[in-house]
Amino acid sequence: MKIAVYPGSFDPITLGHLDIIKRGSEMFDKLVVVVSVNTAKSPLFSPDERVKMIREATADLPNVEIDCFEGLIIDYCRQNNIKILLRGLRAITDFEYELQISQTNRAFSHNEVDTVFLTTSLEYAYLSSSTVREFASFHGDISRCVTPYVAQKVYEKYGYEQQSVKGE
Ligand code: ADP
Repeated sequence: MKIAVYPGSFDPITLGHLDIIKRGSEMFDKLVVVVSVNTAKSPLFSPDERVKMIREATADLPNVEIDCFEGLIIDYCRQNNIKILLRGLRAITDFEYELQISQTNRAFSHNEVDTVFLTTSLEYAYLSSSTVREFASFHGDISRCVTPYVAQKVYEKYGYEQQSVKGE
């Protein structure tokens, strides 16, 4: 059985992430989306909240599982006997970082864990969780970037209702 892990912060999950998850789920028998817990960062959403939003967004994908992990993703892979990481690539700027991290993961896992890349669908190429957060913090309309459920959760975090979004 081919199992892959798609790790990330997902703070929050965007339609760009979801596109990678859907396409990845068609390539592997099982895809585990792993929310990486990084205590050094101060995320907008708690790991549990991020897991809940991903679960809601992927409810129609039966071979997608969600998990949460604090530590090195190669340790997660070793513990669960998984050898493939899935990552998304948006731009050249992503490539440099992703190349370095994929080579590090391969070397540090004694060549056990390889990374597979999917390039972004063009309509999501500009999307990132950080722009979603920034836009929403100024009451911007994020309905083209995230699912309706996620949009509602983001607006709630910033203490306002969907109705007060600009341009609606
Ligand atoms: P990280 O904090 O590890 O960068 P992210 O949650 O930002 O995690 O992203 C997880 C993965 O999804 C990364 O491989 C990233 O390049 C990819 N990704 C993020 N946004 C998009 C997008 N709009 N289209 C395709 N891939 C994306």
